[in-house]
Amino acid sequence: MVSVARIRGAFTVDGTDPELVRSQMQAFGRQIPLLYFMLVINTMAVAITHVGCAPAWLAVYTPLALCAFCLIRCVRWWFFRQRTLTHEQAVPELRKTLWLAGVMGVTFTTWAALLFHYGPAYEQAQVAFYMATTVVGCVFCLMHLRAAAFLLLSIVIGSFTIVLFAAGRPVFVAMAVDMLFVGITLALIVHLYYRNFSSLESSKRELLASQAVTQKLSDDNFRLANIDSLTGLPNRRSFFSSLNALAEQGTGETATFHMGLIDLDGFKQVNDIYGHSSGDLVLKEVGARLLELADPAIFFARLGGDEFGIIIQRRLTEDELDRLGQTLCERLSRPYTIGGNTAELSGTIGWAGLPPPSVSVSDIFERADAALYVGKESRRGTAVVFSAEHEHRVRRASLVAQELKAASLDAELYLEFQPIYDVGAHSVVGFEALGRWRSPKLGQVRPEEFIRIAERTDLIRVVTEVLLRKALAEASHWPAHMYLSFNLSALDISSVPRARRLLDIVQESPTDAERVHFEITETAVTRDFRQARASLSLIKQVGCHVSLDDFGTGYSSLSYVHRLPFDTIKIDRSFVAEVDTDVASAKIIRSVMDLCRNLGLECVVEGVETESQCEILTSLGGRVMQGYLFGKPMPADAMLAFQLNAV
Ligand code: C2E
Ligand code: CA
Ligand code: CA
Repeated sequence: MVSVARIRGAFTVDGTDPELVRSQMQAFGRQIPLLYFMLVINTMAVAITHVGCAPAWLAVYTPLALCAFCLIRCVRWWFFRQRTLTHEQAVPELRKTLWLAGVMGVTFTTWAALLFHYGPAYEQAQVAFYMATTVVGCVFCLMHLRAAAFLLLSIVIGSFTIVLFAAGRPVFVAMAVDMLFVGITLALIVHLYYRNFSSLESSKRELLASQAVTQKLSDDNFRLANIDSLTGLPNRRSFFSSLNALAEQGTGETATFHMGLIDLDGFKQVNDIYGHSSGDLVLKEVGARLLELADPAIFFARLGGDEFGIIIQRRLTEDELDRLGQTLCERLSRPYTIGGNTAELSGTIGWAGLPPPSVSVSDIFERADAALYVGKESRRGTAVVFSAEHEHRVRRASLVAQELKAASLDAELYLEFQPIYDVGAHSVVGFEALGRWRSPKLGQVRPEEFIRIAERTDLIRVVTEVLLRKALAEASHWPAHMYLSFNLSALDISSVPRARRLLDIVQESPTDAERVHFEITETAVTRDFRQARASLSLIKQVGCHVSLDDFGTGYSSLSYVHRLPFDTIKIDRSFVAEVDTDVASAKIIRSVMDLCRNLGLECVVEGVETESQCEILTSLGGRVMQGYLFGKPMPADAMLAFQLNAV
């Protein structure tokens, strides 16, 4: 039964595999015109030699009709040989070809069998030869459609061997045997060829499929490596690789690009008030708004946090750059609707301007950063183009970074200590350690400057560790009731392991952890609220205290006070400077002091310079203060004399 099914299968068109059908059509479509052409020539040759010895209907009209049909088919296939059929069109076409092969096989065999009886021996042999050669030719042309080749072969060889056997002459019988064996051999060749053909097709298909899978994997990898998953914009890596490529193409006169940085104003506030998921929604929306302005020559990327990068791949005048900046700022300052709330944000942009000749990518970035810095300081929500007046800032930053990297930090970094004074008790309660750097080349560098650059170059880790060790060593000589207040940078609390290292240093030192207060600014906390909270909790666990520094200079300070484990709030000196002239400052200070009392927090007022400020602050409820009035930051060796005087 199995073999019957297989035999039947060999004689039918299998239309289940669209790829195989397509290849079959392509392969034999090109050979069919040849098949008909050969058929016409061979038939005409036989017909002509039989004119006169066979009746006209058999020697003239029938072959003419057959040849006319063949010519029509030949022309049709010739014109259609290049067309591409759909699977739905190709399968019926294959079936029609199979059916036609059968019909034509029967027709031509019948015609030749009838003709065979008319001629003398030579003509008879010619008919036999015609049948044998023509069928071989046709079968080769139909090789890609095995069913048609088999059908034709069985009809022609089957019936013609019978005709030859029936003729009874030994020559014809021998020819019949020949024909039978040639037919069987041919069938075998067709079968093998077809099997190879179809398995080649399927392996070609598998190869293509596996190529597609590999391509998809590599596309996915490329996406993961180059796309920011939150906004769908290209990421930092992709931004810098584009920037590098453009810078390589040319800077100076040959430069054809501009680069800019966007920093959101008010984003941290949104994160704080509405939570991180809302912050994420805002970033997505920012990404979408930027994309609306993207075109093949304008490329936006998310560089991290709320910082985005722009690359424009064409030369713009300063006015055009300014206009584009304004459009971007206008888009970014439209209200953001998140979960039924409306948030107001804006974006400040720093343009690097046209890069000068032979400038590096990091210099271009520094330029945009310098322009952004100026924008953030004085023109929030606008675009600032880098100009000569910013040049000095960039040069200085790269010089300081270079020197800091080369510095022997242990030798060059040192501390000054500023007393923290309890006005009520008339005593020093602690000292704030303030980092100092004396560079052999640059001289004294302001702490704000070197700390900011250390943060950017990630040298801050070592800077903080060196300073902390020195501060703890110093504090171990102080009276036991005095605490050490030590400033941490945002990066120091940006991950729990980092905070852990600092706490290890505290625990290894002779100074008790309870005597160490870590000062953290609001901006440090807003950078990554979750990580900051985890680090602060760890700091508290080992017994150290946590102070919120520069209170009032950030955004929505009050919410942090509730949500983070602070012990102390340090009111920024900007409020104190105006306390005796500005009623508002006094009111703010009073309300912060009330807040501290209610929450059971210590309050330190910073920057007290005059007696009158001190009096007003005392009348507002202030008790612990810090400022030049009580003592300027002093070197460690001056402290002993100071303490003795104070006691
Ligand atoms: P800060 O933490 O707010 O430190 C207080 C700053 O105010 C100090 O400036 C101090 O000298 C100054 N100051 C104190 N009393 C008065 C006053 O009565 N009037 C005026 N006008 N200023 C006063 P300094 O030492 O230049 O430090 C500046 C900032 O640099 C610090 O501000 C702090 O943010 C940062 N910093 C300093 N040392 C370190 C450190 O070791 N690590 C980290 N991460 N940051 C540090
Ligand atoms: Ca401080
Ligand atoms: Ca401060």
